[in-house]
Amino acid sequence: MNALRRLVVLLCGSDPKLRRTLQYWAATCVLYVACIALLLLQVSEGMADPAAADKLVTFGGSGALLFYVLIRVSGRLKLAPDQLAVSQAVFSLACGMAAYAISGPLRGAMLIMTVVVIVFCMFAAKPRQTLLLTIAALAGMGATMYRMQASDPQRYPPMTELITFGYLAGALLSTAVLSGEMSKLRARLKRQRRELSEALDTIRVLATVDELTSLVNRRRMHEVLEAEERRQSDGRQGGKGACIALLDIDFFKQVNDRYGHATGDAVLRSFSSTARACLRGGDVLARWGGEEFLLLLPDAAPEDARVVLERMAERIHGMQVAGLPDRRISFSAGLATRRAGEPFADAIHRADKALYQAKEAGRDRIVLA
Ligand code: GH3
Ligand code: MG
Ligand code: MG
Repeated sequence: MNALRRLVVLLCGSDPKLRRTLQYWAATCVLYVACIALLLLQVSEGMADPAAADKLVTFGGSGALLFYVLIRVSGRLKLAPDQLAVSQAVFSLACGMAAYAISGPLRGAMLIMTVVVIVFCMFAAKPRQTLLLTIAALAGMGATMYRMQASDPQRYPPMTELITFGYLAGALLSTAVLSGEMSKLRARLKRQRRELSEALDTIRVLATVDELTSLVNRRRMHEVLEAEERRQSDGRQGGKGACIALLDIDFFKQVNDRYGHATGDAVLRSFSSTARACLRGGDVLARWGGEEFLLLLPDAAPEDARVVLERMAERIHGMQVAGLPDRRISFSAGLATRRAGEPFADAIHRADKALYQAKEAGRDRIVLA
């Protein structure tokens, strides 16, 4: 089983895009094999020259193998999918022209293949490339028809060739227009898919991040707390449990009233970035509402959490905010430890009560529940 998988990886690589291109190549090969079988039938029925048919089969088979190698190493050669598709199409068109020249009474059937080649391009080539290929196909097939009616007018009567060319031109040009429209449609779908995924990324950010402070928002914090509860109930915590702290900026309403709402916003932003800079990687600070913040310190004892909060208070006192030169910002905090198996909501409730006590006791302090 492993050997088979290794063989598949060796033949098709592991890149999904490369595999898809090789699937297209395999589909073309099925068509080649069917055409070769029909050509051999033509030869056995005396409708095509055996020597010329042999040469065409060898040419077609070697070309198919060459394209397999080119696709397989396209990454290293830096060949773009549209370049590969156009080269394959040119090769198939050349085979179609040769088949037309040797097929005598059955040559009309070869024209169908020319149209099929242009349709295949719809999936990989750009609209301009498809149009150029159509012109090349018409010029090549026109030249083949001209040469055949000149060299073998018995089997390729000039008028028959001219009328056939007219039909071919009509079919190929309308196919090119249609495939151009399809390519535009594909490009539009691709653009819409990209825009949709960008919009989803924005929605994801809006749903989890507070716009003003860039901190985790309340909704996201609930998810973080649930995940932490699960982690602790699985016994994956470091043994110290977790601490929760509710922080509330002191006299914030006065800041708004005296210096304006914009300065209030600036204080909230500075508070958030200064406070966040005091934390370790696993700690999470969320904007819980207005000028209130919730801090989660996983794997922390209350004395560790107090040290963090004191360091934070010191930095907040020294914080410089534009438009607020003569005012020191402070906060009050209620700190609680989450008891084993207890929902975080209960610990938050105790932290809230401790915060209330901190306010009652004069603010700018930390109270342990
Ligand atoms: P205390 O010390 O008791 O906490 O007093 P306080 O003035 O900080 O508390 P209070 O709850 O009376 O006022 C909070 C203010 O925060 C009221 C509200 O207008 C303001 N606020 C809430 N959200 C925002 C915001 O996003 N931007 C600004 N600038 N102000 C906000
Ligand atoms: Mg306040
Ligand atoms: Mg408040």
